[in-house]
Amino acid sequence: MPDRLGGERALVDSLVADHAEVWDLAGRIPVGVPRELGAAGLLCAQVPAAFGGLGFTSAENGEFTAHVGSRCSSLRSVMTSQGMAAWTVQRLGDRHQRESLLAELTSGRLAAVGFSEPDAGSDLSGMRTEIRREGDDTVVVDGHKVWMTAACYADLLVVIGRFDGGAAAVVVPASAPGVQVSKVADPLGCRAAGHADVTFERVRLPVSSVLGGVGQSLPLLLTTALAYGRFSVAWGCVGILRACLAATATHAAHRTQSGIPLARHQLVGRHLAELLVDERTAALACERASRCWDRGSPDMVIETVLAKHVSARNAARGAASAVQVLASAGAQDGHVVARAYRDAKLMEIIEGSNEICQLLLAEHAVANAA
Ligand code: FAD
Repeated sequence: MPDRLGGERALVDSLVADHAEVWDLAGRIPVGVPRELGAAGLLCAQVPAAFGGLGFTSAENGEFTAHVGSRCSSLRSVMTSQGMAAWTVQRLGDRHQRESLLAELTSGRLAAVGFSEPDAGSDLSGMRTEIRREGDDTVVVDGHKVWMTAACYADLLVVIGRFDGGAAAVVVPASAPGVQVSKVADPLGCRAAGHADVTFERVRLPVSSVLGGVGQSLPLLLTTALAYGRFSVAWGCVGILRACLAATATHAAHRTQSGIPLARHQLVGRHLAELLVDERTAALACERASRCWDRGSPDMVIETVLAKHVSARNAARGAASAVQVLASAGAQDGHVVARAYRDAKLMEIIEGSNEICQLLLAEHAVANAA
């Protein structure tokens, strides 16, 4: 682990302290927390120094994401949205957009990203949100996005929609007339991540709000933003597994039943062993994906799908084992393993569900065999 992360991790530890449980129960993180991390460049630490960022390698950014994920998955989710927004700007924006928007995203302004719609979930080709030109200088956005993580906190909404016969990503100020943000009530997990349904009704913006200024293919746009989202969720799940492993090992070493510590009951020991294997295999898959990002390897997209799938599946399984071992001691809302159990389940749904990741991996396997 590079030494340079020590200070950044200490900042997260001091901001989260023992508040994650309270934030989870309240369904809200004080907005000053993500703003402070954002102003330090830490919500999208991959942004190069030339654009005001910290220029973390993917491996550093991943380890840092895992650390945040081990403390609070809601805060990590806010970080995933910001990183995804910044990555989309990095990849699709023109020079001026990169300079101005990345400066905002590394100085405390917060962002959310919207793809999903009521009738477009796993199959985003069903997307209906429309971005259309009105004269030479204006575009108008009409549409409805659902479950936008961090939208309750966001200043900027990066919205994917139909444009010019293809698709585009447009950057919409959350305060623009015609934007309505409605918090998702009582999500199963990541309860303080600020998920919201957002409607856009005749939202008029300068044409310069369209990233890159021209229409792109929808699959290219989606692959770009989702690749970062999957990378970040995958590392966040490593953090969930580390938190579960620490809580479970500590509990099993200290609690005694039938005259010996729980850890020495072999069936409990098996839970611990499997949790360790789940954490290590998830971390290995993430490290491999990060090496691809750092080398700019063409395998980056598929290795990230694999890392996301392994990590989310392991986190859901590992968190369930953690609750099993802590039993009544972990069976209260807000407890670290109870939160992990709820949070990890959602990681199997977002940024490509288990089934969608399996379809992509199967396609890759067949293409490689051909
Ligand atoms: P559906 O697409 O209706 O799928 C239902 C089930 O069918 C799933 O198990 C799915 O895997 C399976 N299925 C669907 N199609 C196939 C297929 N072809 N083959 C096999 N199985 C299939 N969206 C955003 O745009 N931005 C966000 O920031 C965001 N954050 C989210 C945060 C959370 C906590 C959650 C729960 C969702 C978030 N979403 C976000 C939405 C998320 O991307 C979608 O929920 C996800 O893509 C699945 O879509 P769906 O819920 O409509 O399920």
